[in-house]
Amino acid sequence: MKIKDILANTRPVSFEFFPPRAADGIPAVLETLDELKAYCPDYVSVTYGAGGSTRGFTEEITFEAKRTAGVEVMAHLTCVGQTKEEIHGVLQRLDAEGVENIIALRGDPPKGDSEYVGVEGGFQHASDLLEHVKANFDFGVAAACYPEGHTESVDLDSDLQYVKQKVDNGADFLVTQLFYDNRHYFDFVDRARSAGIEVPIIPGVLPVLNSSQVRRFTSLCGSDIPPDLDKLLDKYADNDNSARDMGVEYATGQVRELWDAGVPGVHFYVLNRSYSVSRILDNLMIPGHLRQD
Ligand SMILES: Cc1cc2nc3c(=O)[nH]c(=O)nc-3n(C[C@H](O)[C@H](O)[C@H](O)COP(=O)(O)OP(=O)(O)OC[C@H]3O[C@@H](n4cnc5c(N)ncnc54)[C@H](O)[C@@H]3O)c2cc1C
Repeated sequence: MKIKDILANTRPVSFEFFPPRAADGIPAVLETLDELKAYCPDYVSVTYGAGGSTRGFTEEITFEAKRTAGVEVMAHLTCVGQTKEEIHGVLQRLDAEGVENIIALRGDPPKGDSEYVGVEGGFQHASDLLEHVKANFDFGVAAACYPEGHTESVDLDSDLQYVKQKVDNGADFLVTQLFYDNRHYFDFVDRARSAGIEVPIIPGVLPVLNSSQVRRFTSLCGSDIPPDLDKLLDKYADNDNSARDMGVEYATGQVRELWDAGVPGVHFYVLNRSYSVSRILDNLMIPGHLRQD
């Protein structure tokens, strides 16, 4: 089923996984997926690696989730390091396996490169990939957006115009980068609506798993850490279990506020761990997403 049709009927709760470094890590990812299936996700997504074999694992996990676990899926796809023909080949394989949804991304510059340069004969921007997908396939398509601005963007207004271009090129909905201050999300939605972006904007939420990881992620993607969370990250800097429990409480409050404000769904960056998202959903008791055993 296309996610845009799910969005027409419900506010989806979804989980994002990433492929392991080696094939022997695949069963553990599928096991986590199986545990989280108890919360009836409307779909799950699997990220696309920077290169090499993990890209094959993205396809494998996506196919397994759909085929064996019977969960609706969204495959991530980036433009990094591949020609249009190679990307077309990936899209054909996804299509042949019955995958109906993708999220079209540019991807980050390869490690060591300061800026993104598409390969010769490749795509330069996510909007170009979107255009190709819409012209050649019948996938439901999502795109990424950045409430606090993408790290390479010159300013928030031009960044928003490029997001609009992705919607104009066919994105059915947007999924946000992680954020820890809901005001950034609400402000972004207001600005997007003013700019004529009408599609659903689904908040992406990353529960704190440990302090150093959150500091690293937020500094990489340019997300703000609000002062109350900052203090808590310091307090639990040397205690990962307490940091994780604090993260459950923090994300519960964050998602509760978003949900009560009427967000069109919520996308959890689960980082292949079931503990935090399970506790958060136990706390939230969202109808349709209570634990089923
Ligand atoms: C929900 C989500 C899922 C993600 N999944 C993955 C994943 O699976 N794998 C992965 O490697 N990365 C993933 N990322 C990270 C993403 O690839 C990076 O943030 C990347 O740097 C930008 O991707 P994009 O699709 O937003 O690119 P784009 O939309 O192309 O934007 C990239 C930059 O270029 C600018 N820009 C866009 N269009 C133009 C234009 N026409 N002219 C000039 N400038 C332009 C934008 O303002 C922005 O600064 C994900 C991010 C999010 C939010």
